[in-house]
Amino acid sequence: MTLVADELLRDSSVAEIRQARAAQGASAAATPDASAGPLLQVDGVSLEYRTAETIVRATHRVGFDVHEADRFVLLGPSGCGKSTLLKAVAGFIAPVEGKIRLSGRPIRGPGPDRIVVFQEFDQLPPWKTVLQNVAFPLTASRTLPRREALERAHHYVEKVGLAKFADSYPHQLSGGMKQRVAIARALAMQPSILLMDEPFAALDALTRRRMQEELLALWDEVRFTLLFVTHSIEEALIVGNRVAVLSPHPGRLRAEFNSHEFDLASTGGAPFQAAVRRLHERLFEHEQAGAGEATP
Ligand code: ADP
Ligand code: MG
Repeated sequence: MTLVADELLRDSSVAEIRQARAAQGASAAATPDASAGPLLQVDGVSLEYRTAETIVRATHRVGFDVHEADRFVLLGPSGCGKSTLLKAVAGFIAPVEGKIRLSGRPIRGPGPDRIVVFQEFDQLPPWKTVLQNVAFPLTASRTLPRREALERAHHYVEKVGLAKFADSYPHQLSGGMKQRVAIARALAMQPSILLMDEPFAALDALTRRRMQEELLALWDEVRFTLLFVTHSIEEALIVGNRVAVLSPHPGRLRAEFNSHEFDLASTGGAPFQAAVRRLHERLFEHEQAGAGEATP
């Protein structure tokens, strides 16, 4: 088995990408209803940071579609605009060009249908227990009354294997456990799409591997839609069923790969290693060609 030929050059229009996806059918396995439109449409999106003196363009005309139950990965080097893209999908910043739509509706700001899990271990209020941390967004957003919120929180705390730690405080937990709480908290909101920004990057290698495994097991059970950001090629192939490769600053979409055939069990195999090499070539291809990339 080799990497499925789902490589789409960055100049392909979103319409072409949609046609190619429809024709390919391979990724339909992860799409319960292939006739339904994409859940998330990112269409020609440019994002900028403006200060009094400068404008930093973080992404340039990036486009991709995420379908229901996709595990869509944005892969690119540090500074290529991955976090910025995620923040735009979350509704924290608006594009200067292009559109982002969720279920066909333009994103106008943050909402409980999009929850972000960050890399940092300090995203949990330290004065709340694990259970209270998971229940809090449910009550704060008035999604559920207190008792139901606690019930649902319990359910998701169990799902991430922390039932015994429901009454512990964040400072009593390891980094991996804190990330499990953050994942439980996000899933408890039952968002339309779960946004993860390098959630395992600060963990040691063994814990990181275990977290990837657990995330895939959770996905098997819950079938949530995931938009996952990483700079690790291996992690992209393991976690994602589709991987979009972004160029360095400003981020542009270079290619899209189908990676649904890989999981943690495939990392030692030749097809996985071949896929790693291809992604590596895609990530670094223009660097050898010319050192002309503008730096900030
Ligand atoms: P990545 O997540 O891929 O590492 P980011 O999205 O964080 O990249 O950043 C993309 C670019 O935008 C970088 O050049 C970064 O320096 C710049 N940038 C990020 N945040 C800000 C900010 N708050 N103000 C100005 N520039 C920023
Ligand atoms: Mg980032």
